[in-house]
Amino acid sequence: MPIYEEEKLTREDLFELRKKNKCKQCGGMLNVFMDFGAGKAFLACNDWQRTHHDGIEREASRYEQEGLASLTINSRREIMEQAIGEEKTKALARYIGPGPITKAIATEIVETLWGQAPLIEKTKAILLCQTYQLNPLMKHLYLVGYRRKDSAGKFIVDDQGKPVLDWSIQIGIGATRLMAQRKHNYSYLDLTPRKATKEEIDRILGDTADPNCIYGFVHIKDVNSGAEAFGLRGIGKTENIKGVEKGNTHLNMACVRAERLALDRQYPGEMPQGDIEVVDERYIEGDFKVVNETTGEITGSGISTSPSGSEGKRDPDTIRTLNELYKACNEDFKLQPAQVISELGVSSQSDISDTPTECYLKIATVRKQK
Ligand SMILES: [Zn+2]
Repeated sequence: MPIYEEEKLTREDLFELRKKNKCKQCGGMLNVFMDFGAGKAFLACNDWQRTHHDGIEREASRYEQEGLASLTINSRREIMEQAIGEEKTKALARYIGPGPITKAIATEIVETLWGQAPLIEKTKAILLCQTYQLNPLMKHLYLVGYRRKDSAGKFIVDDQGKPVLDWSIQIGIGATRLMAQRKHNYSYLDLTPRKATKEEIDRILGDTADPNCIYGFVHIKDVNSGAEAFGLRGIGKTENIKGVEKGNTHLNMACVRAERLALDRQYPGEMPQGDIEVVDERYIEGDFKVVNETTGEITGSGISTSPSGSEGKRDPDTIRTLNELYKACNEDFKLQPAQVISELGVSSQSDISDTPTECYLKIATVRKQK
């Protein structure tokens, strides 16, 4: 089906789309035609009369390919000053660029931005930054503290009256695209990302669709292999989302999640897996400051309820010795000590230089990806 003009998609819109899209099937230019029977204009392959080619394709924009790196260093510095203040910007400014993220650099950035977060979350964040070359200063990754609520919906405080927080690692959609675009080149098909149509929801979800959700749809194509993947994801209409005051919407968040799903399917194993939320970094400026350092009070838009419980999980901070590491790896991943050593990439126990906690997290990160 070519794309017809309609109430929300005017003839001018079709001409705009023509500039940025091409025919999905032949890669040729598009044109706007008139369907005299229906009295409507439509957008299709320039050779539509002959080929009846279906579908349109848009290359990823520079921002979609590079994220913040597409901005000048001055703009990036300005954004950073707004988000984390002058002092921290000064301390970290040398890392705003696209240079490699070593463990030492990741540690310095994470400690400066989220020094108060629990060690385990910081260690995980540092590992992710190092492994996937993510830079929190480029809005790739966030640590966010959520105030925990009791069953009556009241915020829980500890003995000293400080709020109890559940921490969550979040990765920006820009960083997600970046991880995919480093090795691949993909384009967007059929006007996606956009709201899923009723037909798409019915076809993919059938009667499992939730009427209280808004669904986003993303359909991508690998430019080199031609392989296609789609993602359809919903978000509850009443779910709390960040940055509404800056223009974020439920539909946008549904599209962000749908895109993450499509990329995960298209390039399996190339992105961190597990309990990681994907966010639209354009709407979460300022969340670097989520915890006020002197009072431990949460400020800004980071206040939210916990997205998921974390009961019953192992606390890697409790793994202090190599024996405890072996025991934990055996219980959690069915690994023998020799396998633990080979997973860590060393030849013997005496070559292990990381702490047992770090070793456990490394193994857990890899295991989750499988
Ligand atoms: Zn064509």
